[in-house]
Amino acid sequence: MIQSYKQKLELEEHYDAIIIGSGMGSLTTAALLSKEGKKVMVLERHYTAGGFTHVFKRRGYEWDVGIHYIGEVQNPNAAIRKMFDYVSNNQLEWADMGEVYDKIIIGDKTYDFVKGVENFKNLRLSNSISILFLIVTRP
Ligand SMILES: Cc1cc2nc3c(=O)[nH]c(=O)nc-3n(C[C@H](O)[C@H](O)[C@H](O)COP(=O)(O)OP(=O)(O)OC[C@H]3O[C@@H](n4cnc5c(N)ncnc54)[C@H](O)[C@@H]3O)c2cc1C
Repeated sequence: MIQSYKQKLELEEHYDAIIIGSGMGSLTTAALLSKEGKKVMVLERHYTAGGFTHVFKRRGYEWDVGIHYIGEVQNPNAAIRKMFDYVSNNQLEWADMGEVYDKIIIGDKTYDFVKGVENFKNLRLSNSISILFLIVTRP
């Protein structure tokens, strides 16, 4: 049951676990405990659940605040895929993002991120894009 803080909350007498925050980590933990028969409460301070899985809309465009793709889920034997299958009772379906799953455009230059580890290794990154990564990843 999802309840807003604006409503009169209906609380149980007892919870086996109270989880602070409702990102994917918390929701996965809550789902695992719940599937084991535990009574779980998840508390979220934002007006909606999901943490970095949110999207928001501005001027006709939709923006991801965090997650925009997840790797390895095409492999049914990957640990992350098994976890998603388990917590969703095999209800979750995944969409392939195509050969080019991400694209960086700087001025008139375009850098494609192509599917597959080997393709990615073979990708020739120019000096300018390496510098960009340096700037982005620096604390
Ligand atoms: C820009 C960006 C892009 C990303 N892209 C990808 C991607 O493409 N693929 C990928 O796999 N990962 C991506 N990630 C990483 C991924 O989004 C995070 O690793 C993951 O979502 C973190 O989940 P989490 O459960 O740890 O926490 P979060 O999603 O951060 O959730 C934490 C939640 O806890 C709540 N909270 C915090 N403190 C309290 C409190 N005191 N009381 C109540 N609630 C509280 C917050 O409001 C929030 O809802 C990206 C991250 C960023 C920032």
